[in-house]
Amino acid sequence: MRPLRTVIVGGGLAGLAASLELVDAGAGVTLVESRPTLGGAVQTLPEREGDPPPPPDNGQHVALGACSAYVAFVERVGTSKSLARMRLNLPVVDADRRVSAIGPGALGLLGYSHLSWRERLRVARVTQRLGRLEPTEHDQVSFAELLADLGQRPGEIDRFWDVFIRPALNLPSCEASAELAIFTVKTALLGSRAASDLLLPIAPLGEMHGDAAARELRAAGATLLTAARATALSEEGVELVDGTSLSADAIIVATPAAECAELLGEDVPALEDSPIVSVHLWFDRSIMEPALAALLDSPAHWVFDRGRLTSQEPERGQYLTVVSSGVPDLMDVRGKDIVQLIADELTSRFGPAELLWSRVSREPRATFAGRPGSGALRAGAQTRYPNVFRAGTWTATGWPATMEGAVRSGTRAARLALELDTAGTPTGAAAS
Ligand SMILES: Cc1cc2nc3c(=O)[nH]c(=O)nc-3n(C[C@H](O)[C@H](O)[C@H](O)COP(=O)(O)OP(=O)(O)OC[C@H]3O[C@@H](n4cnc5c(N)ncnc54)[C@H](O)[C@@H]3O)c2cc1C
Repeated sequence: MRPLRTVIVGGGLAGLAASLELVDAGAGVTLVESRPTLGGAVQTLPEREGDPPPPPDNGQHVALGACSAYVAFVERVGTSKSLARMRLNLPVVDADRRVSAIGPGALGLLGYSHLSWRERLRVARVTQRLGRLEPTEHDQVSFAELLADLGQRPGEIDRFWDVFIRPALNLPSCEASAELAIFTVKTALLGSRAASDLLLPIAPLGEMHGDAAARELRAAGATLLTAARATALSEEGVELVDGTSLSADAIIVATPAAECAELLGEDVPALEDSPIVSVHLWFDRSIMEPALAALLDSPAHWVFDRGRLTSQEPERGQYLTVVSSGVPDLMDVRGKDIVQLIADELTSRFGPAELLWSRVSREPRATFAGRPGSGALRAGAQTRYPNVFRAGTWTATGWPATMEGAVRSGTRAARLALELDTAGTPTGAAAS
């Protein structure tokens, strides 16, 4: 029997994971990506004169020890050495420059002096109670509302919960769905000791994801079409913007939600986007001691010492990347002003320094907004066509908008496709 012919639309992590799963099972794969590069939301910025090494990414990405599918992905594409694993030990700096760190597990909170003893005990108690909740039963309320119901006070939300929840869900607790927050707490904070480890990509994102996956896929015989937009699809195949028709036994649509709905001729789900702004700053002197830190009461949420983390420290000074998550207001601030704003935030906390270089990356559609009610808007992998499947971080994976969710969705869609025979109908095994 000839191999299953598949077309994958979308070359982000979901589409790449699906393609790898399929070629590894012996299927024929044609991957169609509208951008010139693969990797989707995980990108290195186009090079500009004067950029220091390593080239800036569209934003520092962080995974957790619990992200087993993402780790398997980087292992498969041969770049797992470019993932640094750090035990959770997050220095948190307040507006008065006081520093206190959060460590893993219940004991990791004991020394966190941005909360009083009474507040720490309340946070510990609430964390245990969250561990007993079923996430999907809490999609209709915000995490802040749930925390308030459990007795958590606003200061505890600002000084503890938002330090994690905002970057993890790309929304503050008052806007994030309690379902996704409970899932994150159970998976990361209450999982095994290693589940809360921070996994930091330390090579340029484009190289270690899109480029590496492309190499592996080509070696396995896949056809990769970049700068190629899919404009229509049916059970028979996919049409591209240049008029090319690609026939397929199975199709995986691994695009964001709106593009997926358009291709499938469905109503666009009312899932909103949430932006991320990343500011890369090279200062003339070293100002931040730890490799990463979170700031309280600041639009600069997490700061990474990019030079040190990538072992490419500049000859002088310090190369920092600052991530601001879920901040639509920053999207409208002019480039120069945003650099000034974020640089001032850093120098006011860590000490004076002059800027040598800067670069801003704005991602208005960085993730879907996992607000209350969003769970019901996330579609499953199956579509009305028996041989067409959805993938993408926005689909119903149970995970927030993460690299892990993207990889899981792609692998799952590919496994469903592999249950079809070459006429695109479910095999006996799948039907039973
Ligand atoms: C700045 C930033 C920081 C982030 N930080 C983190 C983090 O720290 N940790 C974490 O886990 N996640 C993070 N994320 C989120 C994570 O990167 C995404 O959730 C994940 O990579 C999405 O993968 P995906 O494949 O589902 O979608 P995408 O990456 O969006 O891929 C979809 C692809 O489909 C293509 N496409 C769309 N329409 C068509 C069409 N008609 N034809 C062909 N191709 C099409 C698009 O061009 C795109 O390449 C961050 C995202 C950003 C932008």
